Amino acid sequence: MSEMRRGCIAIGTIKCDMCGNTMEHGKRYLLLEDEEDETIKKRYCIDCCTSNGYADYVIEKGEKVLTFFADHPSS
Ligand SMILES: [Zn+2]
Repeated sequence: MSEMRRGCIAIGTIKCDMCGNTMEHGKRYLLLEDEEDETIKKRYCIDCCTSNGYADYVIEKGEKVLTFFADHPSS
C-alpha cells in the first residue's frame, strides 16, 4: 500500500485515528491518503506524528517549526 501524507489544518473538530484524541478547529494534523483507494483516510494528531516519526520540530530562523515528513525515516 502506498500512501500520501499531507500536513493539514483541522476544519471543525476531528478525531485522531491513532490515539482517539480530538483536535480542535485550527490545529495542525497529518492526513494520510491511500493512493489506490481515496476513501481510505487517516488523521493523526501532532503527538502521534512526533512519536511515530511522521513529523518533528526543527529550528528555523530561531523558531521552533513543526515539519511533516513525506516519507517515514527508515533509520
Ligand atoms: Zn493522536
